[in-house]
Amino acid sequence: MKLWEQNIRKVKPYVPGLQPKEDNIIKLNTNENPYPPAPGVERVMEQMKLDKLRLYPDYDSTELVNELAKEKRVDPEQIFIGVGSDDVLGMAFLTYFNSDKPVLFPDITYSFYDVWCELYKIPYERPMLDENFRIVKQDYYKENGGVVIANPNAPTSICESTEFIRDILEHNQDVVVIVDEAYVDFGGASSIDLLKEYDNLLVVQTFSKSRSLAGLRIGYAIGNKELIEALNIVKFSYNSYTMNTASIVLGAEAVRDKEYFQNTVNQIIEQREKTIQELDELGFTCLDSKANFVFATHKSVPAGKIYEELQKKKIYVRYFNKPRINNFLRITIGTEEEMNQLIIALGEIL
Ligand SMILES: *Cc1c(COP(=O)(O)O)cnc(C)c1O
Repeated sequence: MKLWEQNIRKVKPYVPGLQPKEDNIIKLNTNENPYPPAPGVERVMEQMKLDKLRLYPDYDSTELVNELAKEKRVDPEQIFIGVGSDDVLGMAFLTYFNSDKPVLFPDITYSFYDVWCELYKIPYERPMLDENFRIVKQDYYKENGGVVIANPNAPTSICESTEFIRDILEHNQDVVVIVDEAYVDFGGASSIDLLKEYDNLLVVQTFSKSRSLAGLRIGYAIGNKELIEALNIVKFSYNSYTMNTASIVLGAEAVRDKEYFQNTVNQIIEQREKTIQELDELGFTCLDSKANFVFATHKSVPAGKIYEELQKKKIYVRYFNKPRINNFLRITIGTEEEMNQLIIALGEIL
C-alpha cells in the first residue's frame, strides 16, 4: 500500500436499489411513486425563466420553507431543507451525534444509518427488533448518544404509534431523537404533534415517496429553532448552496397542490391493501404495512429465488441478503396495472 493510500477514509458505502437502464421494466424496487408529480409542477417547470439559473440559488430555500411551514403549521425557523432526506439525515448525524456514548437504532432499519456512523466515526448500537419485527422500546431506555427511529420502519413497513414514540422521548430527554418519516404519508401517525412537548425531537420527511419527486432530491427536517439553527450552521460550514433553484420552486408548487397529493396517496394505499390480499392468496405473508411497499415472505419458495425469477421477467423488487430478512421481498406499490402484472408473474413462478 502506498503511503498516501493509508490516509484515505475507508467506508463501506450504502448500496442503493438498482436503477436499470433497460426499457419496459416494472420497477418496484426503490419505493418511488408510480404517479407523476402534481400537474402544477409541470406548469411551473415550463414557465421557469432560464435566466434565473445564472444566479446562485436562495441559500435559505425561502419559498419552499414558507410553503412547508404553512402546510405543517410550524414556524419557518423550524424547518431545514436538504438534498433529499439522505442529505438532511447525514447532516443531522454530523450535527447532533458528538458523544462517546452509542447512538441507538434497530438492527433492521434503513441501512444508511450505520454508514453515516462509520463515515463520521460515531459509536452506535443496534438493538434487535423482536421476532415480529417490532421495536422493543425498553432497549432504548439506557444511556446513549442519540436515538434514530424510522417510523414507519424500512424495510419492515411497520408503523409504531405516537404514544410509542412519546415513550421513547420520555426516556431520552438528554439526547436528540430523530424520527425518520419517509413513509408516514401512507397511513402512519406523524410525530410532528410531539414537537410542542419535546425540544430534542427532529422529524425528517421527504418529497421522494409521497410527492413523486425522487428525481428532484428534496427532504426536510422539522424541529425546534435551536435544533434547526445548529443544522444550518453545519450546512453553511460545508456547502451553502445545497438546494438548486429548480428544486426550490418546483418543490414549493408540489406542496401547494394538496388535492392531487391526497388522491395519489389514497390510490397507493388502496392498491397496497389489494396487493396484500392477492399475495396472501398466493401463499405470501406480508407484515402490517403503513408504507408504499410491502415486506413479504412466501411459505415454501425462498425469497432469493423469487427475486431472481421476477428479474428474468423484467420485474424488479428489492431483496436484502442479510440475516433475519433474507427470506423476504420488499415490493413497492405501483399502479394497478403494474401490480396485476406482478401477481400474474408470481403465479407463474410459484
Ligand atoms: C427513501 C428513504 C430515505 C431517503 O429518501 P430521500 O430520497 O433521500 O429523501 C430516508 N429514509 C428512509 C427510511 C427511506 O426509505
